[in-house]
Amino acid sequence: MNKILFNVAAINICTTAEGPHKRLAIWFQGCNIKCTGCCNPHFQSIEPKNIMTFEELVSLIFQSILENNIEGITYLGGEPTLQSNLSFLSESVQEMGLGVIMFTGKEISDIHPELLKGIDLVIDGKFDQNLPDQRNLIGSSNQRIIHLTERYKQDGGWFSKMRPKKVEVNVLDGGIIFSGDVL
Ligand code: SF4
Repeated sequence: MNKILFNVAAINICTTAEGPHKRLAIWFQGCNIKCTGCCNPHFQSIEPKNIMTFEELVSLIFQSILENNIEGITYLGGEPTLQSNLSFLSESVQEMGLGVIMFTGKEISDIHPELLKGIDLVIDGKFDQNLPDQRNLIGSSNQRIIHLTERYKQDGGWFSKMRPKKVEVNVLDGGIIFSGDVL
């Protein structure tokens, strides 16, 4: 059987900066949307970065459940929907009882439904630097919060206010990841 692979730019094994509750955050490598003013331009290039198997990712998620009692995971990018095996991971994570949040530069109507399986909440749309936004972690006012399940409907307040910028650590290489909205 072929291995189920993902092209990963960075992982924070436990964070409170990438969505409500404690989460494991995965930044995927590669984006073909190329928004002007992208906050992660180094994740745009479509080339192999850290090629990880499904089993390796699930193992890190289990580790964080045991060590940190995470509530869910967040996909960021890069563009997560370029990962053709995304639903394998999302549905497995959902079966573990965790929630899945995805930030995408595409509008949800342009995403194949297969790629949305197992996802609870989507923040969609291209970043537009001419439409600044006051919501936490959401770059421009055209981007929408779309609930695909009931799971995060009580957590809307998390996105309603900006939080301080945080320095986080990429467990894959020890590099620094900045998150949050203000200095
Ligand atoms: S979709 Fe996201 S990663 Fe891609 S260019 Fe836009 S802001 Fe950057």
